[in-house]
Amino acid sequence: SLRVMSSIPPPECLFKEMNIPNRQLFGPGPSTMPQVIGASQAQPLLGHLHPEFVEIMSQCRLGLQYVFKTRNAYTFAVSGTGHAGMEAAILNLAERGETILVAKAGIWGQRAADLGRRLGLKVEVVEVADGEIVPVRALEEAATRVKPALIFVCHGESSTGIVQPLEGLSKIAHDNGGLLLVDTVASLGGAPFDMDQLNVDCVYSATQKVLNGPPGLAPISFSDRAIQKIKNRKERVASFYFDALELGNYWGCDGEMRRYHHTAPISSVYALREALAIIAKKGIDNLIQQHVDNATAMYNQLGEAGLSMFVNKKEDRLPCLHTIKVPEGVDWKAVQSSLFGQGIEVAGGLGATTGKIFRIGTFGQNSEPVKAKEVVNKFIQVVKEQSKL
Ligand code: PMP
Repeated sequence: SLRVMSSIPPPECLFKEMNIPNRQLFGPGPSTMPQVIGASQAQPLLGHLHPEFVEIMSQCRLGLQYVFKTRNAYTFAVSGTGHAGMEAAILNLAERGETILVAKAGIWGQRAADLGRRLGLKVEVVEVADGEIVPVRALEEAATRVKPALIFVCHGESSTGIVQPLEGLSKIAHDNGGLLLVDTVASLGGAPFDMDQLNVDCVYSATQKVLNGPPGLAPISFSDRAIQKIKNRKERVASFYFDALELGNYWGCDGEMRRYHHTAPISSVYALREALAIIAKKGIDNLIQQHVDNATAMYNQLGEAGLSMFVNKKEDRLPCLHTIKVPEGVDWKAVQSSLFGQGIEVAGGLGATTGKIFRIGTFGQNSEPVKAKEVVNKFIQVVKEQSKL
């Protein structure tokens, strides 16, 4: 009879428990997850087409329409993190040989440009220095010149801490025959955003920032104009997994019978449902206002301590992710590890801002004034200790 024999022994480490400290996540994401959201993931699994699960998916769609502020039918969540949203959006909305115009104010514009090149798009970049927003006029000039099929802007640039103004951008895109795509991974729920009022064609986000959920889903919404473009493509989308029409069918966006597309990450969808329920009960506008008010309090708190914000103009600052200049002579890594020792995560810079800034994220429940103030106080204390060394 068959004897099954492996020459590889089971790894010793798997016989022990995982080490998961209870850390307060005040970095650029993931953010601290409320207990109710975590508990939802321990609920029994359902099948990915069971009626009760499909009902939960529908509730997520309604919740996402509420948070994005849109009536778009094609509003759902891509299985995957924020990057999956970016890939799904660009893959579906632009065809090989078409032009994508990228507003680059940090690493996320750079990544969208890189993705565009990988997909065989012509890439035009309008770039500004770190800490600055991309001027609307510069985008208008470039769009008029290159007639892009797609304009990409990152609303909350988490590598620098700016919030990109979006007014007027959809008109520029549409007047030049293209569509407007907005990354709200680091800003959704933490800065004013209204998809329908701004006439945005596609927006994506992620669950692990202001939504306080686990990473793993990328909320996304496509306007009717965007869906028309996808339906009229010359070539099929070069990805089955990220095909917006297939995904939209599975999520019940097209009114047709749902077909199996992939097995949704069931527990992640439960978590999204609970994250959206928290926001629905609080009110999206109250949530945004809380971030805005908290940001003002933090600027004062940090300013009084002699620290300077990285983004000069107050109106250009993202209200949910704060970038602070590393003071002369302070070892940012030592500050970070000292706070880590106290059970708190704050981050250094990302990409070009590494070593220049600290990043403190006050996403969702972390923007409750008492919590945020306490963490900022601890941060100030550690920076002061470090500057004395
Ligand atoms: N866009 C922005 C603005 C982000 O901050 C991030 C994550 N830091 C992403 C995209 C990518 O998201 P993820 O890491 O979930 O793939």
